[in-house]
This record gives sequence, C-alpha cells and structure tokens, in this order.
Amino acid sequence: MGGPVSGPVSGRDIPPDVPGPAAAGGPAEIEVSEASLATVGAIPVRRALPRRARRTVGAWCFVDLMGPVAVSGVAAGAGAGPAGLDIGPHPHTGLHTVTWLLAGEVRHVDSTGADQPVRPGQLNLMTAGHGVAHAEEATDHRGTLQGVQLWVAQPEATRHGPAAFEHHPALPSAELDRAVATVLVGELAGAVSPARRDTELVGADVAHLGGRAVLPLRRDFEHAVVVLEGVVLLPDGRAAGAGGPVVARPGQLAYLGTGRDEVALDAAEPARLLLLGGVPFPEAILMWWNFVARDRAEVATAARQWASPDGGGRFGPVASRLDPVPAPPLPWRLAAGGAG
Ligand code: MN
Repeated sequence: MGGPVSGPVSGRDIPPDVPGPAAAGGPAEIEVSEASLATVGAIPVRRALPRRARRTVGAWCFVDLMGPVAVSGVAAGAGAGPAGLDIGPHPHTGLHTVTWLLAGEVRHVDSTGADQPVRPGQLNLMTAGHGVAHAEEATDHRGTLQGVQLWVAQPEATRHGPAAFEHHPALPSAELDRAVATVLVGELAGAVSPARRDTELVGADVAHLGGRAVLPLRRDFEHAVVVLEGVVLLPDGRAAGAGGPVVARPGQLAYLGTGRDEVALDAAEPARLLLLGGVPFPEAILMWWNFVARDRAEVATAARQWASPDGGGRFGPVASRLDPVPAPPLPWRLAAGGAG
C-alpha cells in the first residue's frame, strides 16, 4: 500500500542492530547494504535505512531516496502520471523530518501552520516532538522529481516537547579537494548548518568531482555514506568477509562505524552522496509507520489518537486539499486490556 513519504516502516526493518565489529587496532569493516524498494504515494523510493542489520546511524533512523521520476504537476489532471509527491495529512512523533531535493518541488503543510515549498538547495526540517501532522503536496512543477527524506530520532530530552518547523533557503558548503559538501545538519570541514539538531549529528550532500576526495570525520561519530548518483569506491574499506576495496552504488548504504578521522572516496566519474553521522544513539527506539517511539504501548497510543476524530488532541489539523492517511493495523496483538 502507498504510505506517507515518511513511511511506513514495516516490521521486517525493525529487528535489533547487529553492532559493527570493533576491529582491534583499527576501524571497523565497512558494511554495504542494499536499499529496499517501496512506493510512497505514486513515487518509487529506495529505502537505505532502516535495514535489518542497521536501524540507526547516530540519530539518523530513516533514509528514503525518491525518484528520479517524471512528474506532471497538479494542473495536469488524472491520466498524466504522478502529479508529484502528493501525500495527505499523516502524523509523526519523536523525530525530525529532513527534506532535501535534488530536482523538483514539494509543498510542505503542517499542523504548526507552516506552508512552505521546498526546492533544490533548500532544507525543510520539521520537528514532531510529542506530535505533529503534515502533508506533502505536488505543486505545478512539471519535470523531474528527485530527493531524499531523512528522519532523525529525537532524544528523551526533547521527544515529548512541542512541534516545530524551519525552512532554510540556503545552506553553507565546504570546498574540499575534489568535492563540495553542502552541510544539511551539523558541521563539516568548518561549514556549520543553521538547522536544528538535538544530538551530536552531521548530514552533508557531497558533490564528488571525480578522482579521490577525502572527507574529515569525527572519531566519536559513527558514519555512513549513501550514494545518490554515480559509483563510489572506498579504498580504505575492508569489505566485510572479503577484504579489498568497497564499492557503493546508488541506494546502497556503506556503514563506516566509529573511530575514523577521515574517509577517502574514489570516483571515476562525478558522483553524489550523502554523508551521515553522529554519536551512536544511546536509546533503543521502536519505529512503526510514522512514529518513532520506545515501546509498543507508545505506538498503540499514537495510532489510536490519530484514528480519533480530532487527532486525540495530539495531532493538529492540516490545511491540505488531500485526505488524511489512516494508520495501517498494528502488526502485533495487543495485550489484554489494550496497550497504552
Ligand atoms: Mn511525513
């Protein structure tokens, strides 16, 4: 079934982390995982995170690559193919959504009152806290739609707090040898994003110019590279099981572990990738549908409130032309007396 851009996260993605092997005397082996394929509304996506063996990288807990796909715009009408990313109102809890486009346009409308189109080079960041609802609507943009939506798990200190929204029309970039990194969240090579972050975190869109680029890393962060376009070789990688360099292609996530000062990335042709990292998230999260929670009772409560006529007083109204998206049935049997 089609779900929000931000989900659904299915049960098969939920199992616990397999910790990255902490190799004695050096950084861990690099794990490369394939994306799963999904459809969000009418848009094909490749979901790089969560994976069976990896739920989080720092507080990053969800990575969807949308498109590239041809869209017709809202004015084209039925039969013209997908109008764009067109997802009706749906709830979130306990996370930030980070929307970053490579091509096209998406209109964001939420229960904080925000109504904000986002275009390439701009960042939309929504904080769910205790609860928020939003819609992502097609615009009159006709052509290619391509982008990413990322989720960041909020820590205990802020996840029960108020919802918020911020739009950044421009972001700083760092010029590296053979690469330009646009910093979405956190800091990289002296460039600091103005976007909110509740934990120690970095996210950057790296335009690799070809040849060898070296990205500075923080040893206390775990990191991952998600290839957006092109082919990237990690020459310092010791491919799990095999040894030798690691190759990563679009949609694949290369998990670097902690303890690295830098990572070298080789590309025969220009390429584009996300660098994601952060202090390993210390709290065990439970993700289901659009909720980032800690246990099943919290998820069940949020789902029940979303299903009630007024959003249970938790999820405010969204001024959208689209119909709200109902939560699917919970994937587990509720304990006697119900949960939450
Ligand atoms: Mn969403």
